[in-house]
Amino acid sequence: MRVFNVCIDIDGTITEPGDWLPFANYYFKKELKSKDITIYEIYQLLGIKEEEYNRFYDQYGEWMHKEAIIRDGVKDVINKWYDKYMIHFITAREERMREVTLEWLENNQIPMDSIALLGNTNKVQQAQIAGCDIFIEDRFENAIQLAQAGFEVLLIDCGYNKGELPKNVTRVRNWTQIDKIIESRFQSMKELKIAL
Ligand SMILES: [Mg+2]
Repeated sequence: MRVFNVCIDIDGTITEPGDWLPFANYYFKKELKSKDITIYEIYQLLGIKEEEYNRFYDQYGEWMHKEAIIRDGVKDVINKWYDKYMIHFITAREERMREVTLEWLENNQIPMDSIALLGNTNKVQQAQIAGCDIFIEDRFENAIQLAQAGFEVLLIDCGYNKGELPKNVTRVRNWTQIDKIIESRFQSMKELKIAL
């Protein structure tokens, strides 16, 4: 029986951050590079109104998600985890992106137990429902909010999520490091169970 629940964000966490960049550069006639992504809110980065970005996303969102590039190591690590842990994807993507999201996960051979498309960035309640033991994220504000609710968070380091972190949030560089930390948390939980 798998009793350890890993909650995972999608965009920028299992996908490369900035997969929207070529689409947005084309649409808004900009020449932004990956290193320029220092703000999470894309419309602010592009210097446009939020409504303008939303119109772009309505038109290209599905296509962007379809073309998203998977981060190094994600496929192997999650496949290995799936034998031992429960895998829950918790994303701010909207419900209308379910089909393209499931298709992308399947094409990239990523197994999972559940997926929640929240349509907003408040992930605490869903983390509680999932019985989250650890949450992997790329958005700074989400990490803080989850940490304040008592969850441990691994924040994958990006140009747009700098800042001081509380002690239950660990900044990580890649999926090899994430794998090591999760494995050690799982071992501690098992030892704790034996001790009890
Ligand atoms: Mg994200």
